[in-house]
Amino acid sequence: MSYQPSDDRYEHLNWRHAGTTGLALPEFAFGLWQKFGDRTPFETQREIVLAAFDAGVVHFDNANRYGPPHRSAEKNFGRILREDLGAWREELVLTTKAGNPIGPSPYHRGGSRKNLLQSLDHSLRDLGTDYVDVFYFHHPDPKTPLEETVGALAAAVRSGKALYVGISNFYRPDEAHRAAELLREAGVPLALHQSRYSIFDRRLEIDDVLGQSAEDGVGLVTYSPLAQGLLTDKYLDGVPDGARALDSDFLSTDDITEQYRERARALNDLARQRGQSLAQLALQWVLRRPEVTSALIGASSVAQLRHNLQAPSLAPLTDEELAIIDTHGVH
Ligand code: NDP
Repeated sequence: MSYQPSDDRYEHLNWRHAGTTGLALPEFAFGLWQKFGDRTPFETQREIVLAAFDAGVVHFDNANRYGPPHRSAEKNFGRILREDLGAWREELVLTTKAGNPIGPSPYHRGGSRKNLLQSLDHSLRDLGTDYVDVFYFHHPDPKTPLEETVGALAAAVRSGKALYVGISNFYRPDEAHRAAELLREAGVPLALHQSRYSIFDRRLEIDDVLGQSAEDGVGLVTYSPLAQGLLTDKYLDGVPDGARALDSDFLSTDDITEQYRERARALNDLARQRGQSLAQLALQWVLRRPEVTSALIGASSVAQLRHNLQAPSLAPLTDEELAIIDTHGVH
């Protein structure tokens, strides 16, 4: 039977704005980084993506690199778009990124005009769409002048292949500011900055990238708010079958140390006293900051996704609870 989205899909999530742009976004975005390649059954991927859309998540984050193997997540999402979501393309915010390495060629990495614009064309073919809503430069590249990179991002917008542009992993506020200024001069505002932020990774606060983004009118999409699953209860007493730490290039069982468990247990106790889960507490913590436009989450099941999306309906964290989180959450 063909897919029909739920009628009440706009009634669940709160919406914010991408900085000072007109682009409204739900406070959760869903990413296809690790479990949407060719190792995960396609039906599982489809179920999760459609459940997200039914719950009001319209913003799906991709990159040329996502899989494994590279490019497979965009191809798989393209199939979901073709078979299920295509009729709702105008309601979707689809992103892609280029800049991180995807192969040995110098034209498959970095911030050159050649890599960025070729990669965007390739992603559009894989996704099966004429444009992405946001095209991101994935990571700073010291070997390419930022002016060239910004020129390529602006060209993507002028060609109609991207509606907005973003940068990612700019942890130095001066660099993020420079990108915003150069784009402003090029007549294409920087809509979004995507970087990592969680109870366990506070660089955006410590170096005040949050404040700089607000000053520049740039929205922040913050990824890995659950520290890839470390900020859930799944690793407290063991490593469950199917967990990311068993099958990832980016998280391993070496990360599940006794010191980690002590901190996670303390945070989990706090969450339980509040009658909720650690995952939900970690998401509330990220979304408490007004500079954050969306928390960019992942999930390997529909149950995880639905559970996590409940977080904003819970009682806000008090100053006292935030202080307790600080004692257990700072590296
Ligand atoms: P999260 O921190 O939200 O981690 C998601 C993972 O945590 C899930 O896949 C699942 O892992 C586990 N999990 C989620 N909910 C629960 C729950 N309720 N109970 C137990 N375990 C749970 O985000 P990601 O690290 O997945 O990153 C999200 C997105 O951010 C990516 O898909 C990508 O789009 C983007 N990103 C961007 C980067 C960039 O450089 N710009 C870099 C990295 C990510 P499990 O498989 O163990 O079940």
